[in-house]
Amino acid sequence: MNDQIAAVEEVNKWLVFGKPWQDRIYPDFAKRLAHVAKLKENKLVITSGFRSIDEQVAAAKNALAAHKDYYQKPNGAVYNTKGQCIVAAPGNSSHNWGVAVDIDGWMETIPSTELEKYGLRRPMTYEPWHIEPIETKGLTIDAKKKTFYSYMRGEYYSMDIKSFQMITGLIPDGIVGPKTIAKAEEMKDVINKVILGNVEPIQTGEQAVKLLVDNKIIDSPDYWLQKIQEIKYLDLLLIKIVNKLRG
Ligand SMILES: [Zn+2]
Repeated sequence: MNDQIAAVEEVNKWLVFGKPWQDRIYPDFAKRLAHVAKLKENKLVITSGFRSIDEQVAAAKNALAAHKDYYQKPNGAVYNTKGQCIVAAPGNSSHNWGVAVDIDGWMETIPSTELEKYGLRRPMTYEPWHIEPIETKGLTIDAKKKTFYSYMRGEYYSMDIKSFQMITGLIPDGIVGPKTIAKAEEMKDVINKVILGNVEPIQTGEQAVKLLVDNKIIDSPDYWLQKIQEIKYLDLLLIKIVNKLRG
């Protein structure tokens, strides 16, 4: 894949996501999908990309509501009467860790053998629309999780609200709504106990930014110092992100 598309702008030109927050899939994976789209001179419509835990829960609920004969196992997965898994349990889907897309249209007809040449795979023949990067073959969920945290750290190090929401399982719409605020609040005590230990609890946004700079998570404190004036609870979001990334 020497001629793989590299620039983010070019990737975005070829991939069309159903919802704007679905785009933070494993970056190499996105490049490969865009590469094939460019090769075929056809934009690729992605109906589902990155899917948060909250969305996975909602998908199970929707499936149950739409099909009265479906049933749910204690782990949250939904099955049909044939015993086929229709919606994976929250956290068990490759979508939850950014290593799967559901595509719509022309790519469904590309044979699996050809897809593999592009570093892509179709794990389930009965779901021709579900595509994963070749590396996920035989990977455990834990390994997929690891990939996720590592690319979140590498590619999205600026750690915006969207990243926070992705990491904490919320719908990553980038909007600081009640759920996001609640999640940040929820973490307050944990942050103080786990990250700070015996150190003075962090009370201000300035302290949060200093922590992030000291840990080389961010490199432009001025930008963030200004942001924390503008966005309520952003300091808490930032600390939470540090915690998760240290994993
Ligand atoms: Zn899928």
